[in-house]
Amino acid sequence: MAPKPSLGQTELMDFSIPEELTALRASFAAFLEREVRPLDESLQTEYWSEHPDREVIHDAAQRIRLRSAQEGFYAAYLPEEVGGQGLSTLGTALLVEDAARTGMRLALAAISPPNPAGPSPLLLRLPTHVRDAWLPALVSAEKSMCFALTEPEAGSDAQAIRTTAVKDGDGWRINGHKHYITNAEHADVAIVFAVTDAEKRAAGGITAFLVPSDQFRRGSVQYTHADSHPAELFFDDAWVADDHVIGEVGTGFFTAMEFLNSGRAHIGAQALGLAEYCLDVAIAHAQSRTAFGKPIGKFQSVSFPLADSKADIEAMRWLVYHLAWEVDRGDNPMLDASIVKYYCTEKAYTVADRALQTLGGMGLLREGPVERVLRHLRMLRVVEGSTSIQQLVISRGLGL
Ligand SMILES: Cc1cc2nc3c(=O)[nH]c(=O)nc-3n(C[C@H](O)[C@H](O)[C@H](O)COP(=O)(O)OP(=O)(O)OC[C@H]3O[C@@H](n4cnc5c(N)ncnc54)[C@H](O)[C@@H]3O)c2cc1C
Repeated sequence: MAPKPSLGQTELMDFSIPEELTALRASFAAFLEREVRPLDESLQTEYWSEHPDREVIHDAAQRIRLRSAQEGFYAAYLPEEVGGQGLSTLGTALLVEDAARTGMRLALAAISPPNPAGPSPLLLRLPTHVRDAWLPALVSAEKSMCFALTEPEAGSDAQAIRTTAVKDGDGWRINGHKHYITNAEHADVAIVFAVTDAEKRAAGGITAFLVPSDQFRRGSVQYTHADSHPAELFFDDAWVADDHVIGEVGTGFFTAMEFLNSGRAHIGAQALGLAEYCLDVAIAHAQSRTAFGKPIGKFQSVSFPLADSKADIEAMRWLVYHLAWEVDRGDNPMLDASIVKYYCTEKAYTVADRALQTLGGMGLLREGPVERVLRHLRMLRVVEGSTSIQQLVISRGLGL
């Protein structure tokens, strides 16, 4: 037997999941099985009907949000002083992964990030009295919000937004048009990014505001090929008081960036969990489906792509956990955050596509186990900074 190395022995890297997080995962898993699965199963006919009743599905998701908030999972990542549990980025990522891995459409409603309907940590940058006026109802899921940055003329190039906020008395007058805003249909309040200094723009000229729904007009719902249908928002002389500025005037972009890293860990965790779900489904099918007298998993053209998926998933896992660990340490891992968003959403889509191929015709069926997930993952490659934008950030990190 080779002698144990003595150099660096006390500095072994620790890849273990903290025990308290393992216990939390177990109780979250029990919640998902007990409360989410029966509801999700009861809605299968609705999901796959030609014209699903979106309000029925929204109401079911809202029931899950409320129950999850009562159990303390929904906004666990917020600090205890505002009703959360101070759950770490790693802990939150694990819950997001576990919810996604169930494959249940409603499961992701049980945990707020990366869903913009839940309370954003950006709200912690509000004056205490405004924060306390909104956060409790958002934490308990009685109210919901949205994050309104994108505009028809400004998506990837977010600093090109045209929405303006002009000083008016003790507040700000906001005019503009946002689109592709998730939960715009139902949000009680919006975080809105507007230009406050056209010269400076991203360098100190964009400000984030908290805007209650009585100050905006909802436009058309924008139906996508995934199950998430964002909508337009219009600000026609909307007015908010000075204390509704999030952070400082001109720091909107920087404030948003501060939470980008943890957000990327959560979206990576979602992609990871969905990929694990797809591989689980594909393995079960490869073992049970027979063709030419044997389980199809015995054909290497079926099993090798699934072996590739397993390797991809393990790479995704450690990228996500490592990013979460860096954020929890207080680092500012922007490059790693872009790598996670890029790698995990791209690889998860490939894993889902392989699973679909393994399932044959059933893979293509709308009510099959993978088709919906594949559409969702296709969306994740575009939203919150497309793959190309992440490649841009990564290549800049290479000095290119
Ligand atoms: C379902 C859904 C939900 C959404 N939810 C929200 C939300 O809640 N809040 C919100 O603010 N926004 C939201 N968005 C907007 C989303 O973040 C944008 O769609 C995304 O950032 C891309 O912007 P765009 O659609 O304007 O595409 P564009 O910016 O026009 O990009 C088009 C294509 O060009 C590529 N491209 C652009 N610039 C470059 C470059 N420099 N180098 C290489 N390639 C480039 C892009 O990668 C993309 O492939 C949502 C979008 C969808 C579809």
